[in-house]
Amino acid sequence: MYPCLEIDLEVIRDNAITLREKCCLWNINPVVVTKGFLADPSLIGVLWKLGFIRFADSNLANLLKLRRLLGHRAELSLIRLPMLEELEALVEENVLPFVSHYEILERLNTVAQRKGKIQPVFLAMEGGDGREGLLFEELPPIVEHLRRLTHVSVRGIGTTMACLSGVLPDGEVIDHLRRVKEFLQRELKGEIIVSVGGTTFLVLWEENRKVQEVDEVRFGEALLFGSDISRKRDIPWLRQGAFTLYAEVVEVRTKEPLKNKRRGYDAFGKECSADSNGPRRRVLVALGKQDIDENQLYSEDAHAKIIGATSNYLVLDVEESERVYQVGDVVTFRAGYGAVLRAFLSPYVEKVYKKVKEV
Ligand SMILES: *Cc1c(COP(=O)(O)O)cnc(C)c1O
Repeated sequence: MYPCLEIDLEVIRDNAITLREKCCLWNINPVVVTKGFLADPSLIGVLWKLGFIRFADSNLANLLKLRRLLGHRAELSLIRLPMLEELEALVEENVLPFVSHYEILERLNTVAQRKGKIQPVFLAMEGGDGREGLLFEELPPIVEHLRRLTHVSVRGIGTTMACLSGVLPDGEVIDHLRRVKEFLQRELKGEIIVSVGGTTFLVLWEENRKVQEVDEVRFGEALLFGSDISRKRDIPWLRQGAFTLYAEVVEVRTKEPLKNKRRGYDAFGKECSADSNGPRRRVLVALGKQDIDENQLYSEDAHAKIIGATSNYLVLDVEESERVYQVGDVVTFRAGYGAVLRAFLSPYVEKVYKKVKEV
């Protein structure tokens, strides 16, 4: 059945083994971020067998799924700041959240107290990307508050970069985290773990920077795609191509949008430009924005250009291609992060696994 996403578990396993070796060498703990693949059980199975026990996700539902799947030996963290309604389940299921507001710490404390537990948390620290996290100057008042909370304990601090604004991590960020770590260790009298993410941080170790103050690195992209999109690079020591998307051609015609017509907006509110370079051979594929992100889909036929997508069609310009396209043909794409994420979320995309060869 098409469309279908083929997942090569061997590529993922090889990447997992390499990343584990590197992390061991660099003296950091690896944390696998599972939001990119809906914490898919087959994929998780491969990682769990290799001994990975730390998983992080931004959706609590995925973490609860992992808790049921893996039991209590798995260490799970919620890396999106929690919503009020999630606090109860976090405490109940021993999921460690990233927190950036005192109000949430206080509520967590209440829930934990009622359940007779101590809830560990990570304080989210702003690293310069303008995303989530406490600012440095907010630490002293937070610490004052924390001293009054008997059922919340700060396990560590976490920073995320290159996600929203593309600000890349450097030695300065690490310096900043070290200062925060020292401050909290002094004030709260306990060990503070420093957690950074995602994949964009790996270069710091690759470049042999001194990053002893970091204890764990959270990654998804490196494992799944062997790439680091924040620097537009494939990571040379990892494998790419774990995800292939197959979809069916449902129309092949030479056509062009009408000329000299007023252009409005497309179905997603994007303004349409009026450039048309004459009638060209177009292939319509039964695949749409509902299933993929067309900007992170790479056609196997280098001469088939993705023109765009509607919610349920992908349109290719194949005028320059040597291949003779026909209705019913199957076209193949390499899928990037956004495309894979959506394919996992789409019930219309079948998932098939290329199994790991047992050795
Ligand atoms: C998505 C995410 C990561 C993982 O990022 P990758 O680029 O996929 O490695 C790490 N931390 C947080 C908070 C995230 O949201």
